[in-house]
Amino acid sequence: MQKRNYSRELEETLGTLRAREDAGEGRKRLLLHVCCAPCSSYVLEYLREYFDVTVYYYNPNITEATEYEKRLQEEQRLIQEYNNQVERGAFEGMHSTARAGRIDFLPAPYDPERYLEEVRGLENCREGGSRCEVCFRLRLSRTAEAARNGGYDFFTTSLTISPLKNAPLLNEIGEEQGRLWGVPFLPSDFKKKDGYKRSIELSGMFSLYRQNYCGCVFSRREAAERQDKAMRDA
Ligand code: SF4
Repeated sequence: MQKRNYSRELEETLGTLRAREDAGEGRKRLLLHVCCAPCSSYVLEYLREYFDVTVYYYNPNITEATEYEKRLQEEQRLIQEYNNQVERGAFEGMHSTARAGRIDFLPAPYDPERYLEEVRGLENCREGGSRCEVCFRLRLSRTAEAARNGGYDFFTTSLTISPLKNAPLLNEIGEEQGRLWGVPFLPSDFKKKDGYKRSIELSGMFSLYRQNYCGCVFSRREAAERQDKAMRDA
């Protein structure tokens, strides 16, 4: 089977939506699941040109409450920065235009117990293995449900910006959940077209907190092991 190019599919969808908006159809509403401020920085810069975006913060995989709170606050600070730009009509250093819209924020309740229950038995999987697939499905399923309940036109996730995440798998799960909940999943591979590079630039520009592990306590342990090994090998 031919490999899908999710980045190109996104561009084609955005082109169609732009033409419809220009023809007077109105702007579509997108519920964007975000994992953290650095990953969402580029995704928001890009998508706010095309959608009325609401950021959905559902990350029960961040098993430590202090870390969860820190990432949540950084996300809110970033959104505030972006909304200030829209209010001022000034976008210094940004790849933004007058089409950039305000961004809303919708935090979900924090339920790490649900995540730990879902991944029981998979604690020792390496990052990128079957524990992550369960984690993606949990977050995208809840996002699709929220999109259906809120009457959104599309939903998607910032997770495909990470070079460590399996973008085809995320798109497959997103489409599966979209079918289940009756809301189209917006395809993406945000790391492409220098998206990942741009997220690093934007993180520097806004001095965003960048964590060195994915989120769960297991990925934190794996990151610490990597660091120890690097120090031993140095
Ligand atoms: S490593 Fe990341 S994606 Fe994988 S289970 Fe942990 S938090 Fe989820």
